[in-house]
Amino acid sequence: MWNGKKKAVTFSFDDGVRQDIRVIRILDKYGLKGTFNLNSAKFGTKNPYEPYGKTVEREVIEPWEVKEIYKDHEVAAHTLGHFNLTVLPDSCVIWQVEEDRKNLERLTGKEVRCMAYPCGGVNNDERVSKVIKDNTAIKFARTITSTYAFDIQKNLLRFDPTLHFGDERSFELAEKFVALKADVPKLFYIWGHSYELDATDGAWERFEEFCKFISGKTDIFYGTNGEVLLNEKV
Ligand SMILES: [Zn+2]
Repeated sequence: MWNGKKKAVTFSFDDGVRQDIRVIRILDKYGLKGTFNLNSAKFGTKNPYEPYGKTVEREVIEPWEVKEIYKDHEVAAHTLGHFNLTVLPDSCVIWQVEEDRKNLERLTGKEVRCMAYPCGGVNNDERVSKVIKDNTAIKFARTITSTYAFDIQKNLLRFDPTLHFGDERSFELAEKFVALKADVPKLFYIWGHSYELDATDGAWERFEEFCKFISGKTDIFYGTNGEVLLNEKV
């Protein structure tokens, strides 16, 4: 399915913050590919993240940096302003998604067909996904609900990831995936926010260890969300 391979690994990172640069350095080091979901109305803003009394810088990159930073990966939509789409009327959902998508196409000079739903918790529903399907050029939209599974899902507009990179089961699932003998296409889909790696001691090292472990396998295809799920550029 993917260059004749039946297994694929893809990464997805939200919010377009400065720590994405360090993530990309790690992905590039191990030959991995990611999709980066950006809010084009939030470029250049700062909004510190404060987990457990710690302060983590959360600085959204500038628009003129987008093309260069993400040149070897995929840029995808995350809505203009990071609002929970389930509480917005149809017209606002369309505006938030489609204007973000078009801004990102202008900045990258590439087609943008993927997105991730903004906001945690219940950030999508059937109405929102249908509005997006019927009124925008988006063909793939990711949720934050872990499946802990590798099956290819039919509904690409409410696509659930395998897990978050910080999940305690990430290495267990990686070992299972590497050992898997696949008869039908299987996908390991990992998501997160790069700034979260600054929040916990040892998280960057753990993430790099994970990337190293999952990389370099001859029977696995490493691609962006679009390459893996929309069969782009494979
Ligand atoms: Zn987000």
